[in-house]
Amino acid sequence: MSLSGNLIVSGTKVSPEHYRGRFAPSPTGPLHLGSMFTAVASYLQAKSKQGRWLLRIDDVDTPRVSSGASDSIMRTLELFALHWDEDVFMQSQGTDAYNKALSRLDEDGWIYPCSCSRKDLASSNGLETVRMVYPGTCRKVNRSRHQPHALRVITHDALVSVDDKLQGHHRWDVEREFGDFIVFRRDKIVSYHLATVIDDWRSGITEVVRGVDLLDSVPIQMYLQSLLGLPNHDYLHLPVLVDRKGIKLSKQNLAEAVSHRDPSSTLFKILLLLNQSPPADIKRTPPGEILAWAIQAWDVSKLSGLDCINEAGEDSCVPASRKIVDGNSY
Ligand SMILES: [Zn+2]
Repeated sequence: MSLSGNLIVSGTKVSPEHYRGRFAPSPTGPLHLGSMFTAVASYLQAKSKQGRWLLRIDDVDTPRVSSGASDSIMRTLELFALHWDEDVFMQSQGTDAYNKALSRLDEDGWIYPCSCSRKDLASSNGLETVRMVYPGTCRKVNRSRHQPHALRVITHDALVSVDDKLQGHHRWDVEREFGDFIVFRRDKIVSYHLATVIDDWRSGITEVVRGVDLLDSVPIQMYLQSLLGLPNHDYLHLPVLVDRKGIKLSKQNLAEAVSHRDPSSTLFKILLLLNQSPPADIKRTPPGEILAWAIQAWDVSKLSGLDCINEAGEDSCVPASRKIVDGNSY
């Protein structure tokens, strides 16, 4: 398999006339305001295009899964009238497809075992706080597959570019900025990137709507799509919600679970934060009615170029730092 030149652009697109979007939370805890913000935006984006909105539970990273979180996520979405259109897809049930993709990459000569420890890499890289660029140590050495190892993908000088619906044009040099990245972890868990690419493809997703902190996943995921001969889809990276200190609301930062007490007023607040200017009189109507208003009024361009929104509704916010999903996690 070869890449056309060294430039990968959005190539074959999945059929855009049948919009299919998804919300793909990790079941590491209950939904918080930041994850609801993404859920509502991806729902409105799909429904305003008469599309389908799917729910996928990204539970492949089993050590991080919190018991009861999947049920809690589904209960919250239903309470907010965010009804998904097809059966919920649990990533943990999809491992055959990940194994097939890994075999294909292996047969085509794109992957190799890496037995470097995180410590080895930190000392070769110097800085643990920035995105780790794998120096390619094991690419040239034929490591034994009998020892504990991860599997990495060869990234020659591929350039990936994307026109994101909200964040504009971005371009990355995969080898220089990321290095050979991991697709199968030392603990025998498929990487977030490979699982995402396979599942977006098999669900026929036409546009991925998610937080801008995942923008740097685009080059890795598009590179994998290219190696596997899968079509690309569109991207829309939303601003992330931050608190007064500019810190992203997240489970790691102990953001509070979204309250079940008054879903209508929470939904109203989310629409305000999404810059959709909902009329005050819908605040006391049921969630389904609020969403019906929001679908017809939805204008995603009101979020253009924003990478963060202050949850307190204040004017300013510190730009969100991007999540380091660098394909180097063991
Ligand atoms: Zn290595």
